Amino acid sequence: MDYVLPSGDKLSLAHGATGADAAAAIGAGLARAALAIKVDGVTYDLSRELPTDGEGKIEIITEKSGGEALELIRHDAAHVFAAAMLELYPGVKISIGPPIEHGFYYDVEMPAGPALSDADFPAIEAKMREHINADETFLREDVSVGEALERFVRENQDYKVELIEDLVKNAPADAPVTSVSLYTNGPFTDLCRGPHAPSTKRIKAFKLQSVAGAYWRGDSDRQMLTRVYGTAFFSKAALEEYLERLERARANDHRRLGPLLGMFGFSETAPGSAFWFPRGAEVFNELVRLSREMGRPRGYSEVKTPQLFDSSLWKTSGHWDKYRDDMFVTEAEDRQFALKPMNCPGHCQLYTLQKHSYRDLPVRYSEPGLLHRNEASGTLHGLLRVRHFAQDDGHIFCTEDQIQDEVAGVLEFAFATYKLFGLDVKLELSTRPDKRIGSDEMWDRSEAALKNALDSHGLDYTINEGDGAFYGPKIDIHMTDSLGRSWQLGTCQLDYNFPERFGLTYTGADNQDHQPVMIHRALMGSYERFIGILLEHFGGELPVWLAPTQAIVLPIADRHNDFAQSIADQLSDAGARVESDDRTESVSRKIRDAELRKIPFMLVVGDREQASGEVGVREHRQGDVGSASVAAFTERLTGLIESRSLA
Ligand SMILES: [Zn+2]
Ligand SMILES: [Zn+2]
Repeated sequence: MDYVLPSGDKLSLAHGATGADAAAAIGAGLARAALAIKVDGVTYDLSRELPTDGEGKIEIITEKSGGEALELIRHDAAHVFAAAMLELYPGVKISIGPPIEHGFYYDVEMPAGPALSDADFPAIEAKMREHINADETFLREDVSVGEALERFVRENQDYKVELIEDLVKNAPADAPVTSVSLYTNGPFTDLCRGPHAPSTKRIKAFKLQSVAGAYWRGDSDRQMLTRVYGTAFFSKAALEEYLERLERARANDHRRLGPLLGMFGFSETAPGSAFWFPRGAEVFNELVRLSREMGRPRGYSEVKTPQLFDSSLWKTSGHWDKYRDDMFVTEAEDRQFALKPMNCPGHCQLYTLQKHSYRDLPVRYSEPGLLHRNEASGTLHGLLRVRHFAQDDGHIFCTEDQIQDEVAGVLEFAFATYKLFGLDVKLELSTRPDKRIGSDEMWDRSEAALKNALDSHGLDYTINEGDGAFYGPKIDIHMTDSLGRSWQLGTCQLDYNFPERFGLTYTGADNQDHQPVMIHRALMGSYERFIGILLEHFGGELPVWLAPTQAIVLPIADRHNDFAQSIADQLSDAGARVESDDRTESVSRKIRDAELRKIPFMLVVGDREQASGEVGVREHRQGDVGSASVAAFTERLTGLIESRSLA
């Protein structure tokens, strides 16, 4: 049969040819490098006969194929792990071991005895290395269901037995399961769909990383299994680079940094809701102040809307039907109420309480309103996924003719904001989805308005066809952080739905009622999440204007405490967040602690400084940068704060 290579060239192979034959026919080098073969999008072992019933588009997978190649050896490594476990822990029962995003895991039921821990990893890894060095071939074999069941019953592998029984039970009536595939490497055989690389030797570097508990089938009524996570790479260098990045992510974890920097904490008495310490609250308020300061000259008016609304509002907005489980609902005087999960319906209600003429438009409301969403407890994650938060939320009500200017205004606002944090952002335009409201003509106009706003600013953007909301197209703004992770920050969405549902109108020049268009926009998203992202991105070293403590005065001895406090007071009066460390500790200890807290400036004061009225300035990570008069330092610090400098 004729196959087609990625280059478009044809490759003729005899009937019954395997992936290995295909690679060899292309070249000896490729035959050596090959890990698997992809035929019409499906990956096969090299040893398998190639299918002959499709288009025949083939691609040899090698180390250079990226994620797919890594997935193969990580799956291989999971098998090697299971093999090692069976040898080291007789009686262990193995369940499933798939490759996952950055590695693999395997769930096992340990025999009676001490629980598995990290301390056991070196012995297991040594055993795994034996299997890898032995260059064991992965042998695939299709056997009847009866034969497979007999094998795993004999080996007391209950989970495998259950998996096979379920495969048979859940098979569609017109495609019954009569056989399953097994993969054998060395002495170990696993029930597995494959595919695998040709041999264990292709795993060049691997590491076991952690142990966790996991219920069989994710069902809390069933057996709690031991899950071991690991990863594998094609080189030691790649593994090390990955582990290093992981270490940095751990060090930058905002859940660790929040308490360390004295910003926030959590308590089970309010799951998913941060408790802000004074310094954290100040940083939070700093961001709210920024939104206000930037919004005012851009025509935003701050409004205040209620927290709790009668269910009738949520019925009008559609939340009651679609989103009720995610809202906190309560009752009073036989009426049902719900805490707002977003500000938009309240802003629509607010709009209806006044009359609007075309001369009033655009109306731009902003409100850092408190929102509550009943996120599942398992999904809560520090500040990044919370139940209680506030957004830098804004809603614009305008005419269709004004859309383009308003969107351009939102983008200008967005770029001015992100620039302050030195964030590089990417834009995505999401267009009409299959399920939508409104006429094609409406979508043509609104998509064109967003496109024009982007193009007229000469902005680069990608288009996500069909990814818009059902009520209108949108522009999403993403950033990539210092660890290479992508976050969505802002959004600008056109909405024809809410104005319709809430019956919003304005009086046109023709004295008739018309329906305005609504634009939802948030630039930072929620303040909580934005602070979490900033902490991780900067590794806790926030720009001076945002640092929870901007400077700390360090008296060398107790007799300098009063002088130190007077300097801290002067700087506080000038508007800085400053404290004085008057503990009876050595100054080197005080410096070390201030460094750990990532405080940008440390001001050391002793006899000399007290006599001259100066301070010895140290900068975080830089060390001693020389002496300065208190006045000069105050001017420098307040300058950095007022200009919201990134330096
Ligand atoms: Zn497998
Ligand atoms: Zn909204």
